[in-house]
Amino acid sequence: MRTHKDHFINGQWVPSTGSSLLPVTNPATDEIIAEVAAGSADDVDRAVAAARAAFDGWAATPTAERAQFLGAIAQGLTERADELADLISSEMGSPLSFARAAQVPLPINSFAKASAILSEFEFEQEYRGSTIVREPYGVIGAITPWNYPLHQIALKAAYGMAAGNTVVVKPSEVTPLNAIVLAEIVEAAGLPPGVFNVVFGTGPDVGEAIASHRDIDLVSFTGSTRAGRRVSELASGTIKRVSLELGGKSPNVLLDDADLSAAVPAAVQAAMLNSGQTCSALTRLLVPRSRLTEVENIAKAVVESIPVGDPTDESTVLGPLSSRNQQERVLGFIRKGIDEGARVVTGGQTEPGAGDGAFVQPTIFSDVTREMTIHREEIFGPVLAIEPYDTEDEAIEIANDTIYGLAGGVWSGSTERAQQVARKIRAGQIAVNDAGMNLDAPFGGYKQSGIGREAGQFGLEEFLEVKSIQG
Ligand code: NDP
Repeated sequence: MRTHKDHFINGQWVPSTGSSLLPVTNPATDEIIAEVAAGSADDVDRAVAAARAAFDGWAATPTAERAQFLGAIAQGLTERADELADLISSEMGSPLSFARAAQVPLPINSFAKASAILSEFEFEQEYRGSTIVREPYGVIGAITPWNYPLHQIALKAAYGMAAGNTVVVKPSEVTPLNAIVLAEIVEAAGLPPGVFNVVFGTGPDVGEAIASHRDIDLVSFTGSTRAGRRVSELASGTIKRVSLELGGKSPNVLLDDADLSAAVPAAVQAAMLNSGQTCSALTRLLVPRSRLTEVENIAKAVVESIPVGDPTDESTVLGPLSSRNQQERVLGFIRKGIDEGARVVTGGQTEPGAGDGAFVQPTIFSDVTREMTIHREEIFGPVLAIEPYDTEDEAIEIANDTIYGLAGGVWSGSTERAQQVARKIRAGQIAVNDAGMNLDAPFGGYKQSGIGREAGQFGLEEFLEVKSIQG
């Protein structure tokens, strides 16, 4: 077992001010694989001081030079891709195949894209007699979750640093190991000390110290709506800018002319990706009542053919959930679904299995109604809720009957018709038919799914203040 007692502050590995350590557990085996420093508000103070001292120099660094540094980080991540995939798989149970295909390429893409966008982005423009200047905020605090651990850090650090800010990252205590490697890569890339800092620890200790810190100018948070609300409250004390990427309960609307043989397998995948631990997962499948049985039969066959098991096995598609806590949460939602009268199409596990690991059998519920908890609350596990509807208007109403608004999907034989419905769904990004994810497109939520956008040019602008100069 590896023990890591340091934070990455001012370009160096420095011992934590306290001696407590947090365990990192492999959720497939229940084995503790590492212990990592549990930082404190004092550690945050040190990191923020370093980031503040580095800010003026970094903001004044020519964009071409900043772009080179970001490119070097992308290159460093590429060189250590296999090691990172192994680490992420062992920290949070992501199947190795998925870690290699998504968990590692996504952050590489963010650093490479942030580097490329810098060369074309206009930091100044003339507007009706004024010069509009885009300037970095200063010090950014980044608080990130465990589901796509390195990707979530990269969306904030890559675009934040590209914009000229310096950064203090708090990774999830569940998945700190990939952040250690990222800091090593930043160190090897030769970034000026203090531009990128990592403080390990818990949300209540390190996260709250970041959210309330008077010398942090913007806090960018990804995680649950509950913690996001707390971050907003604390940030309001210093009126710092807040970006929030929170939960979702996203609808996938199958219109009555959809090609079910294509739509249903894709819909199952869109719900179960990363064992359902994806904020933009399309977890509610809205189905015309006349086609309900057909959809259920296809979905059941697809789910029952998904290889679930050891994440290190190349053929595994679904591994365990990220932790025993997450397993208990998800099993609790499945029990609630059954208690409240939803019909189990497949799966329906309500207790942990006898063996090791935080596994949950993929589950489909049907006849889910708007009063049920599994219609309303984010489950964050491999659970799909099928919700029947009678008319297109009702489908749109059910789709929008949520406090969230992160994502959505529409399937139809007519792209034009699907596009029309897409415009009526109140969410930040909608996939029409088999359109994949566009990594350049802005990502973020309406309603309680968050504030702000990440990725691409919109993700860069999120980290820039706007100044107008007259005369
Ligand atoms: P959290 O929101 O609790 O954690 C996300 C990050 O916020 C972690 O780094 C966490 O620290 C930190 N944090 C927690 N509490 C605070 C606080 N009071 N102040 C500042 N930072 C804080 O999510 P969980 O990991 O516990 O997951 C719970 C649920 O959240 C999931 O079941 C899912 O529904 C949702 N979720 C949504 C995500 C998304 O992308 N939208 C991602 C992950 C979870 P710590 O290291 O201590 O956990």
